[in-house]
Amino acid sequence: MSLSIYDTASRKVQPVKITDGKVTMYCCGPTVYRDAHVGNLRTFLLADLVRRALEMHGTQVELIQNITDVGHMSEDIDSQDKMLEQAKAEKTDPFAIARKYEAGFHNDLSRLKIKPADAYPRASESIALMQVMIAQLIETGFAYIGEDNSVYFDAQSFPSYGAISGNRLDALKPGHRYDYTEDGAKRFHADWALWKNAGMRSEMIWDSPWGPGFPGWHIECSAMSLHFLKGHINLHVGGIDLRFPHHENERAQSNAITGNESVDLWLHGEHLLFEGRKMSKSAGNVVLLQEIIDRGFDPLAVRLCFLENRYRSQMDLTWAAIEAADATIKRWRKKIAGWGLSRISTDSEFLTIIDNDLDTPKAIQYLRAIEKDETLPDRASRFLFADQFLGLDLNRVEEVKAINPEQIQLLEQRMQARIEKRWSDSDSLRIKLEESGLEIKDTNTGQQWSWR
Ligand code: AMP
Ligand code: ZN
Repeated sequence: MSLSIYDTASRKVQPVKITDGKVTMYCCGPTVYRDAHVGNLRTFLLADLVRRALEMHGTQVELIQNITDVGHMSEDIDSQDKMLEQAKAEKTDPFAIARKYEAGFHNDLSRLKIKPADAYPRASESIALMQVMIAQLIETGFAYIGEDNSVYFDAQSFPSYGAISGNRLDALKPGHRYDYTEDGAKRFHADWALWKNAGMRSEMIWDSPWGPGFPGWHIECSAMSLHFLKGHINLHVGGIDLRFPHHENERAQSNAITGNESVDLWLHGEHLLFEGRKMSKSAGNVVLLQEIIDRGFDPLAVRLCFLENRYRSQMDLTWAAIEAADATIKRWRKKIAGWGLSRISTDSEFLTIIDNDLDTPKAIQYLRAIEKDETLPDRASRFLFADQFLGLDLNRVEEVKAINPEQIQLLEQRMQARIEKRWSDSDSLRIKLEESGLEIKDTNTGQQWSWR
């Protein structure tokens, strides 16, 4: 057995194709004009989970994730470049914006224990790659130069357009916004720009055989995935909103270049809501990982919350769920340290659960049952084996904070009260100790304390 995943294009759970013990993966990366929110991080975690599930079987994974630092237009009708808009807002150079948020992205990934990709190519440094591809698409009749000197992909030249999303060209009506606003320069309403003529724009533009301009967003992912993964991608990851038009257009471009199906499996993660509301900048409902850390939670509590939900379902993250997950991780770390460990052995039951289309909620339930089963001799081994996939740092020993002199005095007073059978004093001292953050248990060998 090895990993199977739901493929959006075939609408079936399919085994991930492994060639000579290796899988090539591409995950659409961030547009670096702002910090990634926890919704974006859920999608980036999905790539990490796939990678770890494959690595659990000894499969080698090559993962590429792009950095979109040019060319991604915002959704609004004025069609401004997001990077340039933000540079204006922060009164700085667009590349300074890009590098600042790119650094923040890497920082968030490491705080969530997402293993780094093999390369993070930047769109702005891959312009030549894109231009070579665009020239080839023009030469082979898949693209044309429009009246505005922008280059467009000819959607009708690619008969299987729509295979991922089900949005067939004959059903796509004019007037629907597929991509940038156009002024009649393209031949067909569903065609999209591969190279945009600079027009009045003076920043973030490059020379090209078609005049100065900048690349479209979709061509970026075709150029980088095919170049870095040498012409074939076993598994392609992104959020569900990228299914159309981004991945549909990417597939058309890539297949037109390679002459075959360039991606074996299209994996899409469902969106994250926060406290019941869609997470988006425009809705003013963006939560950053930093905010969760600032509230005193372990960032890995968010990772556990994501694991408790299947990637294919929309999920609602709440502060209460983060708090509960934070407590669970701390409890597990403490228990695992207490159980002791001689060696970690393979747990094939656990592997079977995750191999089934990453059934992480079932994997977490499985561990909760192991936690409760006191007859199992190898509980630490099972947890730490699972943690190679879960990435929750479960073998981290939680620091035990020392108690202060006042608490020591209260504990001594309570011990004395119990010896003298002054039960109501003992009870009120317990309340005081609890208020100071301790938990008190009375056992055969006397009172025991721990931090709550
Ligand atoms: P962006 O930086 O906007 O290009 O998005 C980066 C990734 O995050 C893409 O794969 C998006 O599909 C994904 N994404 C955006 N919003 C959400 C959300 N609320 N939940 C999960 N993934 C999201
Ligand atoms: Zn992409």
